Amino acid sequence: MGGGYAGMAAAVVLSASGCQVNVFEAGKRLGGRARQVTWHGHHLDNGQHILLGAYTTLLGLMAFVDPDEHLALKALPLTWDMHGKVNLSANPLLGRAGTLLALLTAKGFNLRDKMGILSKLVQTRFSSRSAPDGPVSDWLRGQTDNSICYFWEPLCLAALNTPIHLASSRIFKSVILDGLLAGANASRMLLPKVNLSALWPEKAAVFVAKHDGKMFLAEKVKHLQCDADGFTLITSKQALSADAVVCAVGPHQLADLDLPHELSSAVDHVSAFAYQPIRTVYVQYAETASLPKPVHGLHHCIENGICHWVFDRGQLTGEHGLLAVVISAEHRQHASPKEELESKVIQELKAFFPELPTPLWAKSILETRATFQADVALPRPDGKTSNARFAFAGDYIESPYPATLESAARSGVVAANRLATTLGLNVPEHFKI
Ligand SMILES: Cc1cc2nc3c(=O)[nH]c(=O)nc-3n(C[C@H](O)[C@H](O)[C@H](O)COP(=O)(O)OP(=O)(O)OC[C@H]3O[C@@H](n4cnc5c(N)ncnc54)[C@H](O)[C@@H]3O)c2cc1C
Repeated sequence: MGGGYAGMAAAVVLSASGCQVNVFEAGKRLGGRARQVTWHGHHLDNGQHILLGAYTTLLGLMAFVDPDEHLALKALPLTWDMHGKVNLSANPLLGRAGTLLALLTAKGFNLRDKMGILSKLVQTRFSSRSAPDGPVSDWLRGQTDNSICYFWEPLCLAALNTPIHLASSRIFKSVILDGLLAGANASRMLLPKVNLSALWPEKAAVFVAKHDGKMFLAEKVKHLQCDADGFTLITSKQALSADAVVCAVGPHQLADLDLPHELSSAVDHVSAFAYQPIRTVYVQYAETASLPKPVHGLHHCIENGICHWVFDRGQLTGEHGLLAVVISAEHRQHASPKEELESKVIQELKAFFPELPTPLWAKSILETRATFQADVALPRPDGKTSNARFAFAGDYIESPYPATLESAARSGVVAANRLATTLGLNVPEHFKI
């Protein structure tokens, strides 16, 4: 149930293990929060996404269904460009040392900023992963205002989509350890060159279909009934029996399913979750318009600025003249009328990049529950239930990481392993857990 990145990861692993898989997806396109949407004939992503080289599970799944998958991603070595304020870029040939050297030679940070960041990174590298949790803002005590403003805060918002006064330092440190500090390969930024449905879920669907599976799009599961040796899934169009079920709907969509009590472990957990929004504002200029780089950080780079990041889709997906501006987490601007916000974004882009012409159109997409809020010591469900034929999957399932495509994919692989064990199936070595 659910054709997002978690559901499709489970579907691929179960198909590869010899299962006949039926995927029910409520939406018309696969991908969930990472899907393509169409607006007045324009094909846009529900939100601009970035992957990291550290997304080993998802990248492994992508390569499994399509060995040429790497061609769908533009890889950039770790770069941190806060427009006109801070600039650093790591030499990928130098591995971990490249990240540290990039920090030491970064433009825009003084020696105190750099030493503060470096000592925090070294401390993170050698501290225990189970050290007590607390807000990132407390963990940053002693850091300079400059480093918080142009490095730590934008990094925390980009990675956890949670403001530093609320965000869990434990989750933040996991991202730093396994992304930033895990070498040049892990810290690479991977930017999709195709839309987010085509990037993985639709290729996964082809794989599932080749293994006798079926995809049911625009078909929401309304109810699930437990039977003696499996389940009956009831949708608006049919009732289908299944030996086992992976429930990969978003955390806020679980309550809607009205699951039988024995299957409701995750539902109880997520009732305490808070969520954070992300807004992506697409602005289309003439096709000749472009930015100096594919990605620019804009957070705090202008007084009272509202844009956090801007992506030049022309340099990524070949959609020339199309810019995608990301505004993360709780932001006063999310409450503004859409037209007012779009025009503020356009004005701000002009202030940053005066050569931009008058835009042709703008479209803002607000996802109000983009991610769960990565709260301090947030209890997350482990995905198991007392019924071994039923497992939950999704970015919210217990893991060291925040809500990401990688945590979604990992949870799908774990759920598939659980069901495969129950059903006596053999999971391919590559995906065994
Ligand atoms: C704007 C935005 C930007 C983001 N940026 C990044 C980023 O840069 N990098 C990153 O790693 N992550 C990013 N994320 C987070 C990432 O998109 C999510 O963590 C991930 O997509 C979650 O996948 P999922 O499969 O767990 O859940 P979902 O994508 O929510 O999938 C759940 C699916 O279940 C379906 N469903 C719900 N109820 C039913 C039902 N009853 N029957 C059938 N189907 C049902 C839904 O339609 C949906 O397709 C971003 C998210 C947003 C919204």
